[in-house]
Amino acid sequence: MKRIHVLSPRLANQIAAGEVVERPANVVKELVENSLDAGATRIEVDAEQGGVKLIRIRDNGSGIEKDDLPLSLSRHATSKIVDLDDLESVQSLGFRGEALASIASVSRLSLSSHEQESELAYQVTAEGRDMATEVKPCAHPVGTTVEMRDLFFNTPARRKFLRTEKTEFNHLEEVVKRMALSRYDVSFQLRHNNKVIHSLRPCSSAFDQEKRIATLLSAQFMKEAVRIDMEAAGLKLWGWVGLPTFNRSQADMQYFFVNGRIVRDKLVAHAIRQAYQDVLYHGRHSAFVLYLELDPALVDVNVHPTKHEVRFRDGRLVHDFLFRTLHKALGEVRPETPSTDHA
Ligand code: ADP
Ligand code: MG
Repeated sequence: MKRIHVLSPRLANQIAAGEVVERPANVVKELVENSLDAGATRIEVDAEQGGVKLIRIRDNGSGIEKDDLPLSLSRHATSKIVDLDDLESVQSLGFRGEALASIASVSRLSLSSHEQESELAYQVTAEGRDMATEVKPCAHPVGTTVEMRDLFFNTPARRKFLRTEKTEFNHLEEVVKRMALSRYDVSFQLRHNNKVIHSLRPCSSAFDQEKRIATLLSAQFMKEAVRIDMEAAGLKLWGWVGLPTFNRSQADMQYFFVNGRIVRDKLVAHAIRQAYQDVLYHGRHSAFVLYLELDPALVDVNVHPTKHEVRFRDGRLVHDFLFRTLHKALGEVRPETPSTDHA
């Protein structure tokens, strides 16, 4: 038997990276979440070769202090929670302090930041977790730029799992779409191989929001969607649901956000499926962009590292509310549909 030894921090990070970073899209998700957590109102995403060669995210958020820069790349280093109470009431998108450490361990990373109170901007770099401890001054407006190059350059086994440039970019673009649908108040730009793919201005009205959705999803969806806006028992549901005439062969246009986070939840999916049950042909899928808002104490978002699952305190209540609201909305536009009140 071999003797037990503690993993080097570098290897530990690379193992952990396997859970967070599977492909360029995951990197974009983590970095854009960081920008949003920093209060950015403008986020620019640049990608090259599907994000494998380069991902650069520039934001106008609060920035990182000079002395915190090296720390931001260490594992379990976060500014977002301090104790268990914070964890239970966490509002930020991140809090595990793992993303930057993980990404840094499998790429060449540089972080440039100008903290809002500081006079100067500084930069740190890391290459496969061989971190440059040196913090150098640089030129940067208030905010942060994270530049990641050569994803998996030091982990060839993982690199092999990457798909074509087009597939990787599709995943990456999907992440940006979700982010853009989660924050209408933020402007987003996405470029791929120096070509502007999306340029989205902040939205100040429902009209602007609908324009953003038409741009990101399809103009046809917006034409065939009904607006939802319902509040009951401390739950609020708003957004747009596609009419049964707008249906898809795949469930690829279904966006559901709980308190601003995209969610893929069985209970939610079931409630929506049921609401569409007697108006959609078998095997077809509905399209929707929906936002559920409720007291954060009534929902646990801390279930899974990638945070796509949630746990509702009262699942039955949420299920019934979703079903009733959507069933009614769909029934109103399809009066010939017999209304079956079997919630
Ligand atoms: P987490 O987001 O879970 O805290 P990360 O590894 O993603 O962990 O980031 C570590 C820390 O670096 C964050 O807590 C935050 O303080 C800082 N940080 C990362 N990205 C940004 C950014 N774009 N703007 C400001 N601070 C950032
Ligand atoms: Mg983070």
